Amino acid sequence: MGGIEYVVIAGFFGLAAGVVAKIKGAGFWIWFVIGTVLPGIGLLGAILSRWESHELRRRCEECGKVVALHDQVCMRCGRDLDWPAEALAPRAGAR
Ligand SMILES: [Zn+2]
Repeated sequence: MGGIEYVVIAGFFGLAAGVVAKIKGAGFWIWFVIGTVLPGIGLLGAILSRWESHELRRRCEECGKVVALHDQVCMRCGRDLDWPAEALAPRAGAR
């Protein structure tokens, strides 16, 4: 396999992984990079990854940031999060 062909194919896999991740509510660029560096595996990872937009969410008691239900630490204030009494509806359902 030549260099150019490899770059084109890797770029294609990166784009596919990014689009799949975007549809699922995850970041496009992070998966684009993963899909490009690891063609095939990155795309597979994006397909098998969690549907972020379908995940239940909850609000941080400390700062009010809405985080995924499965997050154990708030990404903004660093507070340890207990399992919440009530979960917020997934982003996709709230739309
Ligand atoms: Zn917080």
